[in-house]
Amino acid sequence: MKIWVGIDDTDSKNGMCTTYLAKILMDRIQKSSGEIIGLPRLVRLNPNIPYKTRGNGAVSFLVETESLAEMVDIANETVLEYAELDDVNTDPGVVFVNAEDDSLMETLYRFSLRVIRDVASMDEALFLIGKHLIPHLKYKRGRGLIGALASVGAEFRDTTVELLAYRNRERFGEKREFNPDSFFLADLLSYPETFDTVDWGNDSVISVPNSPDPVLFGIRGESIAAVMKAYEVIETEEIHMYQVFVTNQATDMHLYTEDEIQMLMENRSYILGGDVVEEPFEIEGGHVFFSISTRFGEIRCAAFEPTKQFRNVVRKLRTGDRVVVYGSFKDETINLEKIKIERIADIYEEFNPLCWKCGRRMESEGSGKGFRCRKCRTKAREKVKVKAERDIEPGLYEVPPSARRHLSKPLVRMGTETQSHIFR
Ligand SMILES: [Zn+2]
Repeated sequence: MKIWVGIDDTDSKNGMCTTYLAKILMDRIQKSSGEIIGLPRLVRLNPNIPYKTRGNGAVSFLVETESLAEMVDIANETVLEYAELDDVNTDPGVVFVNAEDDSLMETLYRFSLRVIRDVASMDEALFLIGKHLIPHLKYKRGRGLIGALASVGAEFRDTTVELLAYRNRERFGEKREFNPDSFFLADLLSYPETFDTVDWGNDSVISVPNSPDPVLFGIRGESIAAVMKAYEVIETEEIHMYQVFVTNQATDMHLYTEDEIQMLMENRSYILGGDVVEEPFEIEGGHVFFSISTRFGEIRCAAFEPTKQFRNVVRKLRTGDRVVVYGSFKDETINLEKIKIERIADIYEEFNPLCWKCGRRMESEGSGKGFRCRKCRTKAREKVKVKAERDIEPGLYEVPPSARRHLSKPLVRMGTETQSHIFR
């Protein structure tokens, strides 16, 4: 029989990674009576879930096996051995779903869409498990069952891959040793078939995490061949093992378009069109805000300090510009991941008139009293309007790779017309 195994919430801020635990589990199943079919999937779920502090990714993989009971035992042993069960916020869940049950898979597909873009409750997950008698393992509060079910049900219209390389266990928590130049070289050799390996504009290697988990680095790309090409030139401390995952990263799968919704809800992510009605202003810390009028009313948008150079584009917006914003809605504010500038408004600046004799700028005679040149005594009634230069062009703009969220689609994957605004 074919069984989808889904697993989630085995990690914590202090360590572990569900992809690593899943890799160990797959190897153990493969060594027993199971056969792993195809590549495992790393499914990124709604990035705005409040109790999730990191990537919010669940893993699923397909197994051909004659012994479900044996596989459940192996999974249980592996979770007990590797999951961060001591952490108060780690609540693992593992599910085993009959892949040949089409109606159940259809139900889980609909559930997965909600978990990726919306918020689903523990009760809903337990209801599905109870109604369909889904074999599962639940640890502590078992919140991981939500993501485990969603990762099994997920279907991707667009996919990317990520090669994750893992450290030797005794190195967990130690500073990662790697040659940064080798990552820049990997990017040169394989971009755009790989992406977000490094951030040239901010001179940083972003494929190497800083957290104390087992991941040494992750290379994202369009194909196995592409990530392998990058992998081959990367120089690091000893790699314990690696695994390529199929993912929904870099696909914008988390975004609702505005015709899909009736209202905006906190902790969901959207693509929204609107006209700028409040011009950009900056607060302490370098965060830039502006507001747009949308069919849901006036909405504030933010480009936070970590979005770095992206703020330079946002700062140039003026009242009347037509934009489409992409990002998560949190605290009644869209946190920008991308912006499309559709129309640039004509902006006029008013100046005191120039003297027609000497060419100097006239001075105001007081409110409503016109203008005059002190030297020549020439007069004029009104200010002159001059169309302002707008140092900005229409098109899509994105945050730098170092500020990108897992699910956010980079411009390099979005077609040719926007290539000049790509932040690499
Ligand atoms: Zn004059």
